[in-house]
Amino acid sequence: MTDNSNNNVDTNAEINATSHGHLQDKLVKDSIANNQNITDQVKARQSSGSSASLNANAAVDSSNNNNFTQVQDLPTGTPQGQQTTMPNTINNNTNPTLNDRASTTSAQAQTTKQTLFNQRDDINNPHTPDTDGNEQTHFGYKTVNKAEKQARVADVFTSVAKKYDIMNDLMSFGIHRLWKRYAISLSGVRSGQHVLDIAGGTGDLAKVFSREVGRNGHVVLSDINAAMLEVGRERLINAGCNNVDFVLANAETLAPFDDESFDLVTISFGLRNVTDKDAALKAMYRVLKPGGRLLILEFSKPVFEPLSKAYDLYSFTALPIMGKLVANDSESYQYLAESIRMHPNQQTLKQMMQQAGFENCDYHNLTAGIVAVHRGFKA
Ligand code: SAM
Repeated sequence: MTDNSNNNVDTNAEINATSHGHLQDKLVKDSIANNQNITDQVKARQSSGSSASLNANAAVDSSNNNNFTQVQDLPTGTPQGQQTTMPNTINNNTNPTLNDRASTTSAQAQTTKQTLFNQRDDINNPHTPDTDGNEQTHFGYKTVNKAEKQARVADVFTSVAKKYDIMNDLMSFGIHRLWKRYAISLSGVRSGQHVLDIAGGTGDLAKVFSREVGRNGHVVLSDINAAMLEVGRERLINAGCNNVDFVLANAETLAPFDDESFDLVTISFGLRNVTDKDAALKAMYRVLKPGGRLLILEFSKPVFEPLSKAYDLYSFTALPIMGKLVANDSESYQYLAESIRMHPNQQTLKQMMQQAGFENCDYHNLTAGIVAVHRGFKA
């Protein structure tokens, strides 16, 4: 898509935003009120001296207020969310979208001790063939080799997994929920479709897609990190999402998935953590069916300079402090701020999508470009 059409898209997005302005105002207010509620609980409980377990309670309270899913609309039948938690003596994976390699790996795992997820060989060999793990890349502002970046990103998300949801609400004042809703509204998802959410973590998007695709559809919540995926799995099973599978997979290869097997692929706040983004975009293209759609929700470059300065100040001072107070981990949140600044801007990411083969690519800035949703199609 040309820059002109891109402007049209942005203009359309603004018109949309205006017509939904009233609703959005209400949603923002609700989110802020909800966030304030969580903050008050955390403060009250921290001052009573038992912060660790109480933060977890706050997270539960927060998820109870999440109205993304009408559980009663969900399909009934055999709970499917448990496929990837089967003891390794049983290969219960009947998902037709997973390729033979998954079965082989599962069979191999029969001889090993019981683990929570099927082990995929792309987790053990995360890099694409053109990288040897020793090439230089960045981890936030630090220069590290590619293998080290992968390990450090894993440390970050293993460290924050249990506090991830509450930290998201606190850091974004609940607005991440609106960004996600907006992205979902661009997904065009329909009943009966197959959806892959990459780097899906605790499952915010997968939970909504589970409802939208219904009993004849299927959702895969996928992440490279077992700790994050475990939080997502528990949450979605508790919500009754029985048309969801949980698969450990590296976005760079998406090795467990067949070519042309999904109608919709999404990645929300995940791409900036991926070392080889071009490889990941090509893998996303590979697993999409012709006519399928990719949505990337990610932090981006603010388009309003004064906001940009305030945002920098907030990110580099408040975020690490909040990280320390709530998750006892300031470094991970320092990485968050740095990784956002190192991520390609709107136009660069759009070009990367086009190079990977996507057509009719466009993007929509949200909150003045703090976040953008990129969209592309496989012809
Ligand atoms: N999508 C969720 C959301 O929007 O709340 C979680 C986003 S979280 C900020 C980033 C996720 O990306 C983490 O769960 C992390 O494990 C995952 N991740 C990082 N590198 C990855 C990779 N190479 N392949 C797949 N997932 C990856």
